[in-house]
Amino acid sequence: MRIVIIGAGQAAASMAARLRAGGHEGPLTIVGAEPVAPYQRPPLSKAYLLGDMGLDRLLLRSDDWWKDQGIELRLNERATAIDRAARLIATDHGSLPYDALALATGATPKRLPAGMGGELPGVHVIRSLSDVDALAPQLQAGRRLVVIGGGYIGLEAAAVARKLGLDVTLVEAAPRILGRVAAAETADMVREMHRSHGVRILEAAGIERITGTDHVTGVALQDGRNLPADVVITGIGVLPDVAIAHEAGIHIDNGIATDDRGRSSDPAIWAAGDCASFPWRGQRIRLESVGGAIDMGETVADNILGADRAYEPKPWFWSDQFDAKLQIAGLGTGHDRIVQRKGDGMHGGSVWYYHMDQLIAVDALNDARAYMIGKRLIEAGKSPDPELVVNAPDLKALL
Ligand code: NAP
Repeated sequence: MRIVIIGAGQAAASMAARLRAGGHEGPLTIVGAEPVAPYQRPPLSKAYLLGDMGLDRLLLRSDDWWKDQGIELRLNERATAIDRAARLIATDHGSLPYDALALATGATPKRLPAGMGGELPGVHVIRSLSDVDALAPQLQAGRRLVVIGGGYIGLEAAAVARKLGLDVTLVEAAPRILGRVAAAETADMVREMHRSHGVRILEAAGIERITGTDHVTGVALQDGRNLPADVVITGIGVLPDVAIAHEAGIHIDNGIATDDRGRSSDPAIWAAGDCASFPWRGQRIRLESVGGAIDMGETVADNILGADRAYEPKPWFWSDQFDAKLQIAGLGTGHDRIVQRKGDGMHGGSVWYYHMDQLIAVDALNDARAYMIGKRLIEAGKSPDPELVVNAPDLKALL
């Protein structure tokens, strides 16, 4: 069986490793448009941007490992089309036959609408190694940075830039930061931490446009304010990379639509990671997280080899900002009740999300114990009494 994976990120790397571990001895090829072997993305907006981590530590596997495993990496090569009838993919370098094809194409940063200045030199996004290699030299002490978007990318980049001595303003169009991914209580803790480190956070602040002629000079807000800027970072979300699947006539629904096995509408084609949506608890969701890329990549590998196993996501996320660690277990969307438990430190504590008395997620800021216990409870399907969560002297009693 010839297996081809399109995309060379975390999902692809996990899938390939698992295919070999699971006994696949036939040809296995990864086609990736970037010139580098699969690497970790999470440090790009953290330690790598700060200059605390080199490329060697970013790479998921050594060159020797790929060779030893007999996994062909076709890097710097972009897959351009899928001929489903012939089971052949076309690339900008040639073509490649497959018996099973897995799409691990990931996601691409959203851009501001044309005419808003998003293409001006000095405006950056953070998604790939080349994005960060272009941005990092611009983050020099004393420069003025405006970050557009108060999601994880924006907040992590703001924290790094502040550490490096830049003057940092973060602008969020929605009423508050982290609106899509965390409760107001968590956003309050994160905002407070950023403010205490000198980041200006402007919420409910719509962008009129980015100003400048041959280089960015500032960001004009809809309320008439003008924020001078030497560097701008936009972190306004991502879109799943579905173009190649869409053009091949594969069903798309908030990403490449798969069944609970990770199989697309074409039985020979699978998908995993940021590009893939899958059914979960009566809805179709997409998990934008490295944990999801690993788990779904491995599940798809098992299923390509015949396991016929459902993908059971165990969502978890983390974010490092300044010296704080935010850890999230579960998915809080759809919650109808929130309780908060105080932590020990100055910026810390946990937020517990319930839906119909069921514990569904926990956000923990500088509170590894709350995260660990919350995660175990969620995975076991246990829901402690919210009053106990707030008041129990020792959280361990909840287990
Ligand atoms: P994100 O989580 O979708 O956050 C983007 C934020 O920008 C949202 O709050 C969004 O508000 C806001 N926004 C959108 N358009 C805007 C505009 N025109 N002006 C100002 N604000 C605007 O995405 P992200 O932070 O860009 O991150 C990209 C991906 O990387 C995500 O999948 C993220 O989960 C992942 N990532 C994860 C981590 C982590 O887990 N630690 C770290 C970095 C990145 P609306 O929701 O109202 O549109």
